Amino acid sequence: MARYDIVIVGGAIVGSAVAWYLREEGFSGSIALVERDPQFAHSATTLSCASIRQQFSIPENIRLSQFTLGLFRHLTETFGADADIGFRENGYLILASPEGLPVLTANHRAQMAEGADIVLENPAELSRRFAWLSTEGVAAGAYGRSGEGWFDAHALLMLFRKALRNRAVDFVTASVVAIGREGNRVTGVTLDDGRRLEAGIVVNAAGPNAGKVAALARIALPVEPRKRSVFVFEARDKFADMPLLVDPSGVYLRPEGSVYITGGAEPEAGDGPADPADFDPDWPLFEEVIWPVLATRIPAFEAIRPTRAWAGHYDYNTLDQNGVIGPHPEVTNFLFGNGFSGHGLQQAPAVGKALAELIAHGGYRSVDCSAFGYQRIPEQRAFRELNVI
Ligand SMILES: Cc1cc2nc3c(=O)[nH]c(=O)nc-3n(C[C@H](O)[C@H](O)[C@H](O)COP(=O)(O)OP(=O)(O)OC[C@H]3O[C@@H](n4cnc5c(N)ncnc54)[C@H](O)[C@@H]3O)c2cc1C
Repeated sequence: MARYDIVIVGGAIVGSAVAWYLREEGFSGSIALVERDPQFAHSATTLSCASIRQQFSIPENIRLSQFTLGLFRHLTETFGADADIGFRENGYLILASPEGLPVLTANHRAQMAEGADIVLENPAELSRRFAWLSTEGVAAGAYGRSGEGWFDAHALLMLFRKALRNRAVDFVTASVVAIGREGNRVTGVTLDDGRRLEAGIVVNAAGPNAGKVAALARIALPVEPRKRSVFVFEARDKFADMPLLVDPSGVYLRPEGSVYITGGAEPEAGDGPADPADFDPDWPLFEEVIWPVLATRIPAFEAIRPTRAWAGHYDYNTLDQNGVIGPHPEVTNFLFGNGFSGHGLQQAPAVGKALAELIAHGGYRSVDCSAFGYQRIPEQRAFRELNVI
């Protein structure tokens, strides 16, 4: 039996960021990063839309993204001169209908208070800024002039993973199938090959599988996989200034090199826990819901050609669609970095830093994650993020 000070379950962006920042914070104990899918073929990280925004409703979420933005802006200082994640700072444009206007306006106030560079514009201003946009049914739009955009998720993950190779972290390829617990302490994990790793602390970084991993330690965590499809299409017209556009219907789209990607607007009815093995894109959603919205919102997109699609799983927190970060209040050596419900990639570096500070120094220093604590789960006290895309 091997013994580690820290066993991290899940080695994608959250797990890798925790391990990296532990070393950055000077933690010298032993670390095992356990990953069952080392190609990351099914991880949310690599199947995501890899976008980052300031446009959240909750200040704490804005701060997490701002931390990551700071990392992106100093990537080469952290990971070396050739570090590149192809960050395109094209902004988000979130449109609101007259009914959605009060929420958009309130969110904008919260973002301004956090120093975000977002402008709130009326339809005439939006038409002047983006000539390709139809403002039919739109009361206003919030546009991020800087600090928002998209990047290469796989490249970001690889930066962390490669950097960890020289930082004395053991990469373990296996699935965690059991977690030992004695009273209010977890004692270690059992792997599917029969090995057992004793652990001082277990960190749950299992993404959409986090609810099941917590259950192995007899801990209830309302995080489940929810299937989300992403469709790729070609269009004759290219709009170099196009931000990531979110329509009032919930449909989003953005450029991706010479093509576009789109998704969103999954109907609430039928949106439940996904079969963990189901990665089939929901083509009827594209044909019946998304395509008509694209053609209305951007008249030049009446003639587009869908080419391919993929599906991934959100790490969906059914209580409030927000992260659960930090220790279990009673089983204090079991830590969560879970439940980000569609915005976890951009938050992962900040969450990694926060959890590392907690472990290495006994408290949060850079980004205070107390509001995301687990205690709200048994109390059913929602800490709701309104801007879930
Ligand atoms: C379609 C889609 C679009 C998205 N778009 C965005 C976006 O634009 N911006 C954004 O910020 N976020 C986005 N997200 C969300 C984001 O991808 C996730 O919140 C984030 O990647 C979560 O990272 P993670 O490391 O916790 O989870 P994952 O990347 O899923 O990693 C968890 C890892 O744990 C491993 N694992 C699980 N159980 C075990 C076990 N028992 N033993 C060993 N290993 C295990 C898995 O194999 C997996 O590799 C999107 C997600 C999807 C699906």
